[in-house]
Amino acid sequence: MINKNFLNLSNNYLFAEIARKVQAFKAENPKAQIISLGIGDVTQPLCPAVVEALHKAADEMAVAATFRGYGPEQGYDFLRNAIVENDFKARGIDIDADEIFVSDGAKSDTGNFQELLSADCVVAVTDPVYPVYVDSNIMAGRRIVKLPCTAENGFIPEAPLLSSLKEDGKGLVIFLCYPNNPTGTVLSRSELKKWVDYALANDALIFYDAAYEAFIQHDDIPHSIYEIEGAKRCAVEFHSFSKTAGFTGVRCGYTVVPKDLPAPFNSLWNRRQCTKFNGTSYLSQRAAEAIYTPEGKQQVKATINYYMENARVMREALTDMGFKVYGGEDAPYLWVSTPNNMTSWDFFDWMLRSAYVVCTPGSGFGPSGEGFVRLTAFGTHENTEKALLRIANRL
Ligand code: PLP
Repeated sequence: MINKNFLNLSNNYLFAEIARKVQAFKAENPKAQIISLGIGDVTQPLCPAVVEALHKAADEMAVAATFRGYGPEQGYDFLRNAIVENDFKARGIDIDADEIFVSDGAKSDTGNFQELLSADCVVAVTDPVYPVYVDSNIMAGRRIVKLPCTAENGFIPEAPLLSSLKEDGKGLVIFLCYPNNPTGTVLSRSELKKWVDYALANDALIFYDAAYEAFIQHDDIPHSIYEIEGAKRCAVEFHSFSKTAGFTGVRCGYTVVPKDLPAPFNSLWNRRQCTKFNGTSYLSQRAAEAIYTPEGKQQVKATINYYMENARVMREALTDMGFKVYGGEDAPYLWVSTPNNMTSWDFFDWMLRSAYVVCTPGSGFGPSGEGFVRLTAFGTHENTEKALLRIANRL
């Protein structure tokens, strides 16, 4: 009766194990003030433009004349058009509104979009990786190939590793996430172009997760894969307002499905959404629209700057302490090499017990994450600085 693929999922011990260890430590040391540099959620509130839009939308819902029931499964035109204008046209990218599918976030879409793929497609993911790509493909029974991303290769997976996969004649889907969770590293235009060229030459499909594009600080780093010539023929792109504008609780994102893809993914995704999805709430979409107003843009940027200031302070302080630090320049994540060949979990324990600071062990994101921990910039300035001081004092 059940889908046996689900039995192949490993229990994801990572966050449960972190919580268990933190609880146990708290029980032993009730006075210890623990600070988490491991949180993947945001801490700053919604910006005023978004809050105002939410209030306004709620008021509309209270009056019969402006009440909205079911909306279009693909998203309201006001939001699809704002996305096209601001995220694509403004960057010189030609995307049509009917290639934008508004969703309740990138997690569900990166998982659900795979329904359009055959079960025998081979799936390539980076290692370390956002665990959702792996687990959602295990649920579908697909073969998964891991592409190691290490300090030696600059955390950039190598396409040649995939050439052997093409020989078996099956479809190939490559998941890329840049700026990357968990390593916080980015792909330059020329590096991303190599992947687009590879996909075009090998009839592969790229799933490009751009959930963290708003954190990019350097002008030459691409925000969208469609900045690369030919990408509309080989890539689907996922976006999220969660980290961009603090929408982790509001829920809104979107997926770009170009009509130029070699298979009818655009019409099939539309068909799938019309069957299985009843749209993102009107309130969430009005809230997302507000991000694209002049005030919204400026306010959202201010919050991102707040987090990126944390990232800067963390990078500097940890580097001064002698740690090897990656990422954190165009992403809210720092990938820190553990000292003295400690394992990720040993270093986690040391940080917790010596500095009362929580981090995320890199090995939880895949075998190549061993020897690293992930730190996030989503805390407050005060806590971030306090945590760094404690680490420095315990070294
Ligand atoms: N993609 C990546 C790489 C993420 O790290 C996350 C959240 O942590 C998501 C997608 C999920 O985004 P959403 O909140 O839009 O579902």
